[in-house]
Amino acid sequence: MSSPNLEVAGVSVSPDHYINGERVASDATFECVCPIDQTRLGDIASGSAAHVDAAVGAAVGAFSTWAALGPAARQPYLQRFADAIGRHAEAFATLESHDAGVLRSRMAHGVVPRAVQNIAWFAERALTLQDRVIETPQARHVVRHDPAGVVAVITPWNSPLMLATWKIGPALASGNTVVLKAPEWAPLTSSLLADCAHEAGLPPGVFNLLQGAGAQTGAALVSDARLARISFTGSVGTAKWIARTAAANLVPCSLELGGKSAFIVLADADLDAAAATAALMYRNAGQVCLAGTRLLVHRDIAAVFTGKLRAVVERLVVGDPREAATEVGPIIHPRQLERVQGFVERAVARGARVLWGGARHPFGEQYFAPTLLTGLRQHDEIVQQEVFGPVLTLQTFASDDEAVEMANGTDYGLGGVCYGEQTHAIELAQRVRTGFIWVNSFGIRDLAAPFGGIKRSGVGREGGDWSFEFFCDVKDVVVPKQPFRASFSHR
Ligand code: NAD
Repeated sequence: MSSPNLEVAGVSVSPDHYINGERVASDATFECVCPIDQTRLGDIASGSAAHVDAAVGAAVGAFSTWAALGPAARQPYLQRFADAIGRHAEAFATLESHDAGVLRSRMAHGVVPRAVQNIAWFAERALTLQDRVIETPQARHVVRHDPAGVVAVITPWNSPLMLATWKIGPALASGNTVVLKAPEWAPLTSSLLADCAHEAGLPPGVFNLLQGAGAQTGAALVSDARLARISFTGSVGTAKWIARTAAANLVPCSLELGGKSAFIVLADADLDAAAATAALMYRNAGQVCLAGTRLLVHRDIAAVFTGKLRAVVERLVVGDPREAATEVGPIIHPRQLERVQGFVERAVARGARVLWGGARHPFGEQYFAPTLLTGLRQHDEIVQQEVFGPVLTLQTFASDDEAVEMANGTDYGLGGVCYGEQTHAIELAQRVRTGFIWVNSFGIRDLAAPFGGIKRSGVGREGGDWSFEFFCDVKDVVVPKQPFRASFSHR
């Protein structure tokens, strides 16, 4: 039995799970609310243990046939899946701007084209997966990458479509079946994704979607002993819980977590370019894991740099993410807004100075003003903890060694940015302990490149062939070169 679709600004979307090729309703539901103006968008199915059992069971049932197809036969299915996402580009943009507050312009020009690529690129790439042959005098080893089985994909609310497809693409292309648990604060684009999988004719059970809260539906999913892999993006606290739970069944996890990345501005940097890029850290209201939220600026140019950044920030358009001109939208949820405000208030109470912002923004109830805090010490909470809002900190340094020490002086190690004369900036970037770092740039990502963090920012790498390494089991098929004679003395 399925429920009537929700109507969101002219887009029709199912509130149900998608299990074994069919929509499945729940008696229990939760509310989906628009962060722009707190409009209620509708009630979404909340997955029970029985729904989790059915979804994983469907994925188990579909696995051997899907795996046996091989990459070449899977590719047309996945190309049709990617094409369907592209056809629904407008609907995806409408839904994610309504339930997550993501800029509609960014959906159209960045997120949806990337989601299409996430499916199509990995389907093509899987065609290049080749057995590796190791010849020794004794034997020929044919090393294969076999699909692992059922993959649980768990995504956060800040970029649900991009992050789901980034994991589902390589998981399906390499022959696994998938159960996606959508984020409860932004569930709608994952539902439309299930429609796209259906339109593309993916066999029932190959792709399944569960809606529901992390502590119930998510927890039941990661506890299922039939999983072969868990690919999770979200917070450190949840990741620790998932890793502990997965350990009970020895299920490998890929964990893409939070960040507190440094944005270093050297004295020889192009300060206009650095200021323009630093303002981008307010994008998505700062709810971006890879943002360089700690500005570390050489003390000799700090005043000039701050003046230039202020000029850019004053021109930022804070407003309705559905409007083309808007550059900074709302905070996803009242709880997240309170969290952001709490960080700022505690920092100010401990002596931080507000250079701009520091309070809610008058545009709407769930808006926080782009903020810059200074007067901080390295051990301050706001320097150490991920805020996940439009809040940057500014610290100054006097030498490269001091900049590196500050950059490396948190428990996180996801991304980073370094502006300076090219050779100087590269040399310094190499000393920052992190998963990736952009030199005189920000946000360049290629699907062939690895992505992931170190320290508390994550475990493992996805992207390019690293995704296949995670989603596949390596098997060595050993064929002797001489007839094998069994003997107890044989080694
Ligand atoms: P979260 O950890 O609260 O939730 C993420 C997902 O996990 C949601 O779908 C949630 O329902 C689910 N979940 C929660 N508890 C669970 C449990 N016990 N078992 C199974 N699933 C559970 O994170 P969030 O607040 O949604 O997202 C923000 C965080 O995500 C930030 O820390 C941000 O930095 C991080 N993030 C990281 C990346 C990256 O690529 N490194 C990208 C985006 C966001």
